[in-house]
Amino acid sequence: MFIPNLLYLTSSFLLISSIRMLSSPKTAFKGNFYGFIGILLAIISSIYSSDVDNKFWLNIIIIFGAVLGIYSGLKVKITALPQMIAIFNSFGGLSAVCISLSEQLSFSPQYVMNTLGLVIGGITFTGSIIAFAKLQGLIKSKPFHFRLQNKLNLIILGIIIAVSFSFILKPNNTLFVIICFLTLLLGILILLPVGGADMPVAISILNAFSGWATVGIGFSLSSLILIIIGSIVGFSGSILAYVMMQSMNRSLKNILTGSFAKQSNASYTSDKIAKSGSPYDAAFIMENSQKIIIVPGYGMAVSQAQFSLKNMADILRKKYNVSVKFAIHPVAGRMPGHMNVLLAEAGIDYNDVFELQDINNEFSTADVAYVIGANDITNPLAKTDSSSPIYQMPILDVEKAKTVFFVKRSLNSGYSGIDNPLFYASNTIMLYGDAKQITDEIVKQLEQS
Ligand code: NDP
Repeated sequence: MFIPNLLYLTSSFLLISSIRMLSSPKTAFKGNFYGFIGILLAIISSIYSSDVDNKFWLNIIIIFGAVLGIYSGLKVKITALPQMIAIFNSFGGLSAVCISLSEQLSFSPQYVMNTLGLVIGGITFTGSIIAFAKLQGLIKSKPFHFRLQNKLNLIILGIIIAVSFSFILKPNNTLFVIICFLTLLLGILILLPVGGADMPVAISILNAFSGWATVGIGFSLSSLILIIIGSIVGFSGSILAYVMMQSMNRSLKNILTGSFAKQSNASYTSDKIAKSGSPYDAAFIMENSQKIIIVPGYGMAVSQAQFSLKNMADILRKKYNVSVKFAIHPVAGRMPGHMNVLLAEAGIDYNDVFELQDINNEFSTADVAYVIGANDITNPLAKTDSSSPIYQMPILDVEKAKTVFFVKRSLNSGYSGIDNPLFYASNTIMLYGDAKQITDEIVKQLEQS
């Protein structure tokens, strides 16, 4: 056991270092590579230290998994990452259920941990399938409510706990099947009321669940590596979910009961008129500015405008001597770090990119806030309207800049579905159109003048 344990230790070291390195764009590439080697070592040492005689099928399954992983890594668009994570979480949950079943059939005495793996794995499996189906548009993404829904979920959870205790005290196959059925049902019921805006948080929670299920299974199989990797996934998923909930001002209870959709949505905009301008106007104001802050959001990701933004920032700096900074909100886009990844992809210097708390007080000294495909993260109602679903969510104070440009296709709302009164402010100019197209036109104007 010395060699496998040494390999497990090396693998754990690599995985923990990988997470540390992923926290900065400078080291992220290396961190990703460390993670890859860490997992590879874990797989190889698990296979060759296992007591399975015929490793042929094991190898076939691993090759199949590797091909599927490489294919999805190459093919899946960055905007579809949440659903990819959801389906991968479901695989983690399903594995926990299958391992738990095989342990039960082979009369393993590890009933407590095995049951824990089964319960968490079952909820993760079906919950993640529902999350995937909603995000992929296979079923309606709207929260699904019915009478006494929350009470029913609590009753089912109570029955699962009671049956699990009976099973641990007196194990038998019937109780095992009942637990399995109820946890799979509960996974579906818990995810049905979760709305679109809350889905990425729910996915982080399910991600943490898949980690905890792995820990349970790791204990029942006495597998050190499963316990270590499960703990890493469990803790990192929980911390991520917590950070996202804080940034969106949402509680776990609100997310799991789908109360987001039930809140009031007053209209602030019906009788007002928004001013609009052209890329020519924008270029003129920008080249005569001293300081511009660019605020990217989901629409920038959709239109893949990051390369155009880089061109615009470069030309403003070099030709017009303007100071250009980028402001990133923690929940801009549709996943944590979404904007950072895209700006880094375009080669935008990390030193020009600032987090909300580091740049927010600079808007009052900026000539222009160029808000590109962003909406909710700038909505001042978060500060003033206690009935708003985004109330108390920290926002970027773009309205304090002398001129605010909003680049978007219409006056439509963002993810939260609420109006943004900033579109009608006296210092706001709307630039209607696709984010990339508008930015490219501004670049053309800046080059010509
Ligand atoms: P929003 O969803 O608030 O707004 C994005 C805007 O982009 C839309 O109003 C849309 O307006 C515009 N848009 C879409 N496509 C294009 C395009 N091709 N060109 C130009 N504009 C376009 O995004 P934000 O980034 O401001 O805020 C993120 C929201 O997502 C927050 O509510 C946050 O809570 C939520 N969220 C974020 C998560 C994260 O981890 N990042 C996780 C879960 C939720 P129009 O249709 O008029 O063009």
